[in-house]
Amino acid sequence: MSSPAQLSRRTFLSTAAAATVADLVVGNRLSAEESLSTQTVTSPTADPVRQAPVFVSTWDFGRVANEKAMATLAAGGDMLDAIEQGIRETEVDADNHSVGFGGTPNADGVVQLDACIMNHLYNAGSVAAIEDILHPISVARLVMERTKHVMLAGAGARKFALEQGIEPTEMLTEERRQKWQQWLKTQQEMSLEESHDTIALVGCGTDGTLSGGCSTSGWGYKLAGRVGDSPIIGSGLYVDGQVGAAGATGLGENVMRYCGSFQVVEFMARGATPEEACIETVLSMGRKDPLPLKDMSLNFVAVDRFGRYGGAGSDAGFRYSVTTVEGSQSSDAVTVQE
Ligand code: ASP
Repeated sequence: MSSPAQLSRRTFLSTAAAATVADLVVGNRLSAEESLSTQTVTSPTADPVRQAPVFVSTWDFGRVANEKAMATLAAGGDMLDAIEQGIRETEVDADNHSVGFGGTPNADGVVQLDACIMNHLYNAGSVAAIEDILHPISVARLVMERTKHVMLAGAGARKFALEQGIEPTEMLTEERRQKWQQWLKTQQEMSLEESHDTIALVGCGTDGTLSGGCSTSGWGYKLAGRVGDSPIIGSGLYVDGQVGAAGATGLGENVMRYCGSFQVVEFMARGATPEEACIETVLSMGRKDPLPLKDMSLNFVAVDRFGRYGGAGSDAGFRYSVTTVEGSQSSDAVTVQE
């Protein structure tokens, strides 16, 4: 077989049957020219043995959420409880400036939060640009379980949360307020690395039950009312109970234009492993978009119904965390670049 560097997309497609993603990833990097096509993804002849429960989340900070999710499951909670409780850990962490309490505010100095949750039965709940709420993930779950709707936004989402008995919380910490005041002087756009992150947490239970959720304060100093990909079902998160679950972190404006997480799950439905599906989604978006992949900030984690997992993104620094009954680890995801 040709080495990856020698493969053009065309020649690769013609040798597709023999190739695997592992053949193409060199030093954890994959180039758009070395694309998989959906034909390259070979369906397993027999189902792999399920290795679950497993929780997979974005970034190193996801580890705490994973472990809380695992503990919730061990204590008798169901998969949705596990996802919710896991994400609540991240939301309450004041040192995390991209999720929940202590998150970076919008341009007006207000912390506006996005979150969603989805289960294996295609039920979903979501809140967008919600203010004064410590745990948007829990409000998203209440939207799913107690209303006829999937998504509530802004003042209506806040009103609903308070009606459900949730006490309002000031989400802007003094430290973030001071940073915002400094930012007001220059109003300089933050770099991709410092401006945003999301906790996206997906999991596969012992019996193959899949669930997922995500939560973020979004793009730092965004325009008031800006909504990212995270609360949009199919963009920041998608769960197909018969296939797998995927979640995103990165620039929401780019992820949402391609329904990124839905694409990852669709690639898994066609036989890709979770890692292959994340890689193929990033490549597919990179091929279509005029922006260079390195400027798009598209990063995904995924798990399938067998408990297999993976992550890949266009950001070289993208990392993800995995927790199984054997323990947790955080590692570099595959970097996909042109
Ligand atoms: N995707 C989130 C947003 O655009 C932020 C991130 O994950 O970095 O709001």
